Amino acid sequence: MLKYVLGAVVVFGVCGLLWAQKGASNASKEADVLPVIDVHTHTRFDGRIERSSKLPVTREQYEKEWKEAGIVAAISHVGDDERGFNADMKAKNVFHCYGIEESRDLKRLEKGLKSGDFRCIKIYLGYSYKYAYDKYFKPVYQLAEKYDVPVVFHTGDTYSADGKLKFSDPMTIDEVAVDNRKVNFVIAHLGNPWIQTAAEVAYKNPNVYIEASALLIGNLKEISSAGLDRYLIDPIRWSYGYMEDPSKYLYGTDWPLTGMKDYLEAYKKAIPREAWCQVFYENAIKVFKLKELEGKHTCSVK
Ligand SMILES: [Zn+2]
Repeated sequence: MLKYVLGAVVVFGVCGLLWAQKGASNASKEADVLPVIDVHTHTRFDGRIERSSKLPVTREQYEKEWKEAGIVAAISHVGDDERGFNADMKAKNVFHCYGIEESRDLKRLEKGLKSGDFRCIKIYLGYSYKYAYDKYFKPVYQLAEKYDVPVVFHTGDTYSADGKLKFSDPMTIDEVAVDNRKVNFVIAHLGNPWIQTAAEVAYKNPNVYIEASALLIGNLKEISSAGLDRYLIDPIRWSYGYMEDPSKYLYGTDWPLTGMKDYLEAYKKAIPREAWCQVFYENAIKVFKLKELEGKHTCSVK
């Protein structure tokens, strides 16, 4: 075991060097224009201090971080019971994703989809004690097909100890993807820690996409570069490479669990420069059908 650990240190030393060189070529250049769409944020601005990142959950903070990170649009995940607390920021291109946890109000969902208030549907696997392929969700997938919106799944670790992990294993999404080919699905959090499963499900299914929000949470400045590399940058880099299709990868943070600018800088290190416009901007417009954004921003990465 000790030998293995020592070997790992040597290997990491070499990879760390390669990574440092690669990182340099992935750094932003002055002439880059990179509009960014964050497909996983929360806009329940109740003024509390988020316990992991210590960020104030206010609209001022949200808009300040948008500017720092160059965000031009975002998806806001809205819980079934918290709609009233979420700011209407449509004018700023913040679009709501209707969340289904333990309850499911199909009438309200359809009304929101019809009016354009909801631009996607979020299912909280693990928090909800049901598999993605449970018949309970069938009418939800039918509505997603009817209104041509994607379904986003929470996958992997649950923030609460009361979540049940067997339901949030991304493997369960394969069955749903095969049985509902006309619906696009997004695996949130890269299935973390089941990242290989998530990458394979997205690689194999043309209607499954990945976002890698909240692989690490809190203040990223307090995490060592080796930690950032191992738990955030490497998993994204590996899964992106495995999937062999830049059109399958989306960008998301899960703000306020972590800061927008630091997360973006780490994510950029994992994605080759030539794919930045797709991953950080264009793919979100296609998957979430953000017609408002079409032709609005120019992305150019030198
Ligand atoms: Zn979230």
